[in-house]
Amino acid sequence: MENAERLPSYDLYIGGRWAPCGAGERFPTFNPFTRQPWAMISQADASDVESAIAAARSAYETSWRATSGLERAKLLFKLADLVEASADRIGILETTDNGKVIRETTGQARYLARVLRFYAGYADKLWGKVIPLDRGDVFDYATRESLGVVGLIIAWNSPMAMLGNKAAAALAAGNCVVVKPSEHASVTTLELCRLVEEAGFPAGVFNVVTGDARTGDALANAKGLDKISFTGSGTAGRLVAAAAGRTLTPVILELGGKSPNIIFADADLNKACTGAFAGIFGATGQTCIAGSRLLVQRSVYDEVVSNIVKRAPGIQLGNPLKQETEMGTVANEPQFNRIIEYIASAKSEGASLMTGGGRATGDGLEDGLFIEPTVFAEVSNDMRLAQEEIFGPVLAIIPFDSEDEAIAIANGTSFGLASGIWTRDINRAMRVSRAMRSGLVWINTYRAVAAQMPFGGVKDSGFGRERGEEGLMEFLTSKNVMINYSDDERDPFAIQT
Ligand code: NAD
Repeated sequence: MENAERLPSYDLYIGGRWAPCGAGERFPTFNPFTRQPWAMISQADASDVESAIAAARSAYETSWRATSGLERAKLLFKLADLVEASADRIGILETTDNGKVIRETTGQARYLARVLRFYAGYADKLWGKVIPLDRGDVFDYATRESLGVVGLIIAWNSPMAMLGNKAAAALAAGNCVVVKPSEHASVTTLELCRLVEEAGFPAGVFNVVTGDARTGDALANAKGLDKISFTGSGTAGRLVAAAAGRTLTPVILELGGKSPNIIFADADLNKACTGAFAGIFGATGQTCIAGSRLLVQRSVYDEVVSNIVKRAPGIQLGNPLKQETEMGTVANEPQFNRIIEYIASAKSEGASLMTGGGRATGDGLEDGLFIEPTVFAEVSNDMRLAQEEIFGPVLAIIPFDSEDEAIAIANGTSFGLASGIWTRDINRAMRVSRAMRSGLVWINTYRAVAAQMPFGGVKDSGFGRERGEEGLMEFLTSKNVMINYSDDERDPFAIQT
């Protein structure tokens, strides 16, 4: 590439040092608004991945494992302060890398600080429990211990938020990490290394290897990891889980979704339509929790469809770095092409296109990867449009008559990440939330997250949890210790109970 040497260029971050990748291969990362390359990223291979795991293992064995919870907490709090102070800069970098609007990316940088503080608070409180046994002359207790070295593989849509969920919990629990960000959005993760260093974390506790699927594959197949936490597509997730199965490495998989947002006739329709709108057009629909299927009770169906169809073309598309922009670009070219292909397929399946349906053009949009906010109505749940994750601003509206029918449609995909329920009837809200086969249920709200809430899916949306206390427990193991203080000599041929 012509001007490659003039772009900022990033090495790998291994053992507290910036290290060029062994094979010397670099690739450009593109700004999806200008479609110009704006930084060069290193392509780590299997030997770089091995070096990163070795550096993490050495840091774990020589210092981090014995570091007190209080010390870990102090470092995480310090890092949170540094991240918060840099939130605007991190937001600009992330928006430049993945095209998400600046109000979301700066918010996610602040969320990273929040989640670091949330888990910092746990670091010195990881006590176990005393367990009373049937016998009185033994003392039994279970402790919580770190796992060791964990691999964190991340997608491109929300790098800082995802890294926060994984790394903050893993570090608070006393593990060292090797992070593999997406090849489409690596810069903020690399820049975070500088803040980790400034906060004073020992070298080797936090390592970053960049590169495409080959690097992720090398990490998933590597020996010496104690857990892998993966966020991304079902296709790659299955490959990671299969590789981890061969080395018996436990995995967490945070995969995709096709989440239903259900509006009942008795709902506050203005609030519900705004929630549905946020659910699919927030973050340009590039979010695993996108409410991409809108289920609407027949008696209010026309009103809801017309509300959304009228508002969608008014969404302000534009430079994602500008505060007033409401929807940014799609993050990268493969994803853009995928969305366009899904829209074409939805048309051919017979869904009614109500608005949008193609590339967005207009002043200031010429170069960027913009898609029009797109709404299909009269969608049937067996269409590809309703069954497959599109990961873009494409809404499928499905009518229903009864509560039972809504539940059947809502649960009628292979995914199970999130669901939204809009109703004023508390009994219905409770009944339907119990019936949802999903890891998250929102009632009269949507796409609202917090450091304290456990997050994750069921079925093809994956397994394991992030955030909340559950997210911390994923990075801890328990050890049981039994102390016999009786004076009796035991029968060697009978197990003691
Ligand atoms: P992706 O699966 O293509 O890539 C995710 C990461 O895995 C990247 O770092 C990539 O380089 C790496 N990777 C790719 N192939 C690999 C392989 N064979 N072995 C190991 N690593 C590999 O996903 P994406 O396109 O970056 O992200 C979009 C997907 O992520 C969507 O399906 C979305 O729903 C999902 N996602 C899920 C959550 C969640 O928390 N459930 C959050 C955000 C995104």
